[in-house]
Amino acid sequence: MREVLRSADSIPTSVVDPIAGEFDALSPAYDVISAARTGQPAGAIAGGPVRALQVRAVPPAPLPMAQAGALVPSPSSVDGTLPLADRFGRVASDIRISLTDRCNLRCEYCMPAEGLPWQPREEHLTADEIIRISRVLVGLGIRTIRLTGGEPLLRKDLPEIIAALHAIPELEDVALTTNGVLLERQAAAIAAAGGARLNVSLDSADPEEFKAITRRDDLDRVLAGLVEARRHPELRPIKINAVALKGVTEGALDGLLAVASSVDAELRFIEPMPLDADRAWTPDDGLSGAQLRDLLAQRGELRPVETAKSATAQRYELGPGGQVVGFISSVTEPFCASCDRLRLTADGQLRSCLFSHDETDLRTALRAGASADELEALIRGAVWAKPQGHGMNEPGFEPPDRPMSAIGG
Ligand code: SF4
Repeated sequence: MREVLRSADSIPTSVVDPIAGEFDALSPAYDVISAARTGQPAGAIAGGPVRALQVRAVPPAPLPMAQAGALVPSPSSVDGTLPLADRFGRVASDIRISLTDRCNLRCEYCMPAEGLPWQPREEHLTADEIIRISRVLVGLGIRTIRLTGGEPLLRKDLPEIIAALHAIPELEDVALTTNGVLLERQAAAIAAAGGARLNVSLDSADPEEFKAITRRDDLDRVLAGLVEARRHPELRPIKINAVALKGVTEGALDGLLAVASSVDAELRFIEPMPLDADRAWTPDDGLSGAQLRDLLAQRGELRPVETAKSATAQRYELGPGGQVVGFISSVTEPFCASCDRLRLTADGQLRSCLFSHDETDLRTALRAGASADELEALIRGAVWAKPQGHGMNEPGFEPPDRPMSAIGG
């Protein structure tokens, strides 16, 4: 329970938050956290004008030592040298930053044909705001930033953002997830900006099937985008992500394997998740990783490939040619126990988990003048409270309010 300490004349002086520690009551960080957690408009609790004061944090009382899934002692929350850890001992090192909720495709497992009520552009983080938050995140130990959407290539300032990310010294890895429709036109500019590891979403290499899934006749543009990307060493490695759709992917396998091989890309299959805007998802919509491995094993021997502990995909080499295929099986083989990922939405909400029901509003804090320390405290508080897992297989599971297109993959 949060405790409010008061001066003699009952003005709130500081607040002890069980997760984020103690804050000066008048700091923007205090306001925003209160707003995020109590739903009251920012500033309502503090009551006075917002002043940027130095945030002090006192770590909460230590908790019992870690067993798998058990809570772990919280590190002192604003000691910058300490890892960006959650209560389960997982350390965040990877963030997906959504640049927009808009998309130029209408995939039937993601959104309705008419699209969604897009967020006003002024609510989206500017390039400068993205970089400011990214600098704080990298200071906290984030080493990979993946740019996503909606469709990130719809952002005109994408090359500028990529170049500015590459200018952050400790950032090791910039990646980009795109549907590839605008890739042929923008590949050179992205490469010139310093490049990015590329994930291209493609569920079928059959024009009619592609059109039926995406409600757009753009397969040729996606394939041309892959060929163009292949020409730029700054856009490596290339991975193709196919959502594993029952009644579709079985027939699409050979076409996808051929496209992936032609552009020297790794092909990964993603189990569909309950993040569609129509809330129509059922567990029977998709093919599981195990089912797909059985199907691919009919095409050649599958040999496991060593993969990083926190990686989302289980990877294999297929047949004599050794083409690499991967399986992202978050529904049937969850990988939450080793999750090192965070998400920042286009409108500046930090999500510690794809399926979080909680968000921390970094945009309001930033625009209210929050210092790097205050942003850091907000981020640490949010990460500390990260849920143990997605809970999809638990009774009473509720998908998050936001669809995937407004979170970013
Ligand atoms: S569902 Fe959440 S905790 Fe699990 S892997 Fe995804 S982001 Fe991580």
